[in-house]
Amino acid sequence: MPDAAMTEAPAPNPVDSPDGTSVTLMDGTSVTSMDGTSITPMDGTSITPMMAQYLETKRAHPGYLLFYRMGDFYELFFDDAVAAAAALDITLTKRGKHLGADIPMCGVPVRAHEAYLLKLIRKGFKVAVGEQMEDPAEAKKRGAKAVVERAVTRLITAGTLTEDILLDPRGHNYLTAVAEVQGALGLAWLDMSTGDFHVQAPSAANLGAALARLAPSELLVPDRLLPRPDLLDVFAEWKNVVSPLPSSRFDSTNARLRLETLYGVKALDAFGAFTRAEVAAAGALVDYVDLTQKGRLPRLSPPRRMAAGAVMEIDAATRRNLELVQTLGGESRGSLRATIDRTLTGGGARLLTEHLSAPLTDPEAIERRLESVQFFVDVPEAREKARERLRRAPDIERALSRLTLGRGGPRDMAAIRDALAEIPGLRLALSGLSLTPALTPALTPAPPALLEQAEALGRHAELVDRLSRSLAAELPALVREGGFIAEGYNPVLDETRLAGKDTRRLMAVLEERYVRETGIGSLKIRHNNVIGYFIEVPSKQAEKLMEPGGMFLHRQTMATAARFVTVDLAELENRVRGAGEKALALEVELFDSLLADILGQADDIARAARAMAAIDVASALAALAVERDYRRPVVDGSSDIDIVGGRHPVVESVLGGGTAFVANDCRLDKDRHLWLLTGPNMAGKSTFLRQNALIAVMAQAGSFVPASSARVGVVDRLFSRVGAADDLARGRSTFMVEMVETAAILNQATARSLVILDEIGRGTATFDGLSIAWATVEHLHDALRCRALFATHYHELTGLSARLPRLACHTMRVKEWRGDVVFLHEVGPGTADRSYGIHVAKLAGLPESVLARAEDILAGLETGGHAGAVTRMLEDLPLFAAARPAAPPPPPPPPPGAPLARV
Ligand code: ATP
Repeated sequence: MPDAAMTEAPAPNPVDSPDGTSVTLMDGTSVTSMDGTSITPMDGTSITPMMAQYLETKRAHPGYLLFYRMGDFYELFFDDAVAAAAALDITLTKRGKHLGADIPMCGVPVRAHEAYLLKLIRKGFKVAVGEQMEDPAEAKKRGAKAVVERAVTRLITAGTLTEDILLDPRGHNYLTAVAEVQGALGLAWLDMSTGDFHVQAPSAANLGAALARLAPSELLVPDRLLPRPDLLDVFAEWKNVVSPLPSSRFDSTNARLRLETLYGVKALDAFGAFTRAEVAAAGALVDYVDLTQKGRLPRLSPPRRMAAGAVMEIDAATRRNLELVQTLGGESRGSLRATIDRTLTGGGARLLTEHLSAPLTDPEAIERRLESVQFFVDVPEAREKARERLRRAPDIERALSRLTLGRGGPRDMAAIRDALAEIPGLRLALSGLSLTPALTPALTPAPPALLEQAEALGRHAELVDRLSRSLAAELPALVREGGFIAEGYNPVLDETRLAGKDTRRLMAVLEERYVRETGIGSLKIRHNNVIGYFIEVPSKQAEKLMEPGGMFLHRQTMATAARFVTVDLAELENRVRGAGEKALALEVELFDSLLADILGQADDIARAARAMAAIDVASALAALAVERDYRRPVVDGSSDIDIVGGRHPVVESVLGGGTAFVANDCRLDKDRHLWLLTGPNMAGKSTFLRQNALIAVMAQAGSFVPASSARVGVVDRLFSRVGAADDLARGRSTFMVEMVETAAILNQATARSLVILDEIGRGTATFDGLSIAWATVEHLHDALRCRALFATHYHELTGLSARLPRLACHTMRVKEWRGDVVFLHEVGPGTADRSYGIHVAKLAGLPESVLARAEDILAGLETGGHAGAVTRMLEDLPLFAAARPAAPPPPPPPPPGAPLARV
């Protein structure tokens, strides 16, 4: 199949020149054009026909590294080679010349190319794969040095991957597109490897949170939209994954037609009431998939619309701070997801990630999820049975997607067979029927949500049976390797294979005969890919077979052996090859027929896969709840948060060595919606703040929670800011980041939001920081009236409680004992009188002299009263000198090695 784009693209200045001197590049085959002539551009130097083909292909795919197939390698040339060699850490060589200059080149073996691809994609490259579309022997028929026909069969980008090795089995891989129609935004996302397809119409302010939820691998943006001022920050945040495209690709009318044709419907309304911008974004996505897959679309579910406000909005900074799916260090281990994930299937793991990333806001929908978990908590037998089945179920979603794209192999079919085979057992587990009535006679009916999933699992006995009968026990990765159809499935195939086997038996007979006739006991019939079957004898004995006119024809002499062929052996070889080729052709036919069967039921299989994932999530959350004593939360429409005995799921799970996590309560309601938390360093303030946010996330995601009881009035937006970290990559200082993030909260929080602020203002001078923290507390209390937990070291703020009636002061309890401080990790009403910072500094190992000096200064500050202390701070500490109205001239620079400030 020639690649249209490639043949349409103009060749670089080519003028046919029958007598131009050609240049040898890589292999002798490509120095001349299709008919054996070379091509000479205007400057008189020649371009080989292969190079002309290469350059045409490259020109048709701007922005992509071209993997140019040459035999067993994908070769890269010119700048591609330079970039890839550096990114892959492989040798850059040069082969031949182009327009008088060396051509840089590097290559990766086809066998191992996926690992290289992964590395390149991870580093932000896109790759066009140019395959050989004919056998070099075919090309030779056109002229001894004709160029092998090549075409780009696939464009590989981060958002369009389907190979298991290139994907995280437990996470989605989203390709996203944002579009704009008359100022309104549309966002579409799909996971090519599972076929999930969604749209939403976010406001400009919400786009960042929506993208943070999806963590896209690729974001398509119309180039016209990139400079929109209110989106600059969002696109900057995702700049590593943004693919700008011409705005014409986002036309909503074309997009609508495209989607209607794709789904064979007259109007998209059947799937939901989409905005024009949503349609434009969805259409652009489908278009891009079509382009990158060269016309082969995977199975895509119809787009589902996410209504505004359907999920808890959590912006990127909050997700990072709360370490929902990744830790601050970028790892999965130690995140909330990794800590609570007990799922057993890839689909289940991805769904759990999705639930945690997008907690719901509709109490009824949450309740349905919780009921499913409850069932598996209440009926341990159902839980265990279901999990036993799920443990054996491979990832069907991705196997199905590869098969739809024509990229699947026998193992993908086996994955589908094995997963579908578990369905009857899974359905039985959900029936609530006791499998061992004598032991657990109770019959607990499954809730409606689970019964729906049981129904959605469907019945696939016929397909499972056909796949079981047809597929062999040991399966190759690729169809062309053959040998994957089981014996006994197809009589013609069996016969052909028998013929092949019989011929091999005849070869053994022939070998015996030759041994007998030549008297050479060590004579062997062997095979290799270069000369096929041959007779091998030790060199010493070779003479015997060399006599002229004899039946042995000499082929090769090695150091220790000589090789021969005979007419009889060649004939047998032809028979073996013939049988092998025939068998493979038959297997390919059978594969296609099985594939047709699978694709005919693709929608049912995809539905079953989704149901299995949902059952996996519910039973895994139940297993977790039982294991860690989590309780079912109540999520309602109130504006309260009432958590009794709450724990931090991650901190609790890592605390070992007999240290028990100290549970704490948190009660926020409309009369007391703002808690000000003071307490020493290391006492557990951050832990307490985060645990309440995490409990809200878990509850709304439909999970049981680490608390003795929890009632959560639906949180529409969650904000968490924990003492800022530098964002040097974006040129912002610690304090700037802190302020930008605080601004986002104060501008976007609603009365239904939950805000967690940890030491806001600490990134600047004391008085500035205190003032900002002060004003922020007032704003949360008076204007936003949202639920908020505010931890601070500015003890001055606690004075606000006298003025702000809905503010409650709490503190982390500590005990002083024989001059040491014991952290009790208990939250109680009241305020802390000191920070015990020096105590923590001691724990951290600061030198004794520094600690002693700090104690002195602290005592001085404390005895002088606050105002006096501050005055003395201004006098003594050069650090604060800038805060004085009229600063004295700066002190002379300290001698090298001297302390910077005397304290
Ligand atoms: P700082 O003010 O220095 O940031 P902090 O008050 O925020 O400190 P955390 O970081 O929350 O303190 O907690 C410090 C350590 O105390 C945690 O890493 C954890 O090991 C332990 N800890 C916190 N809360 C509890 C708890 N409720 N039960 C047991 N251990 C806890």
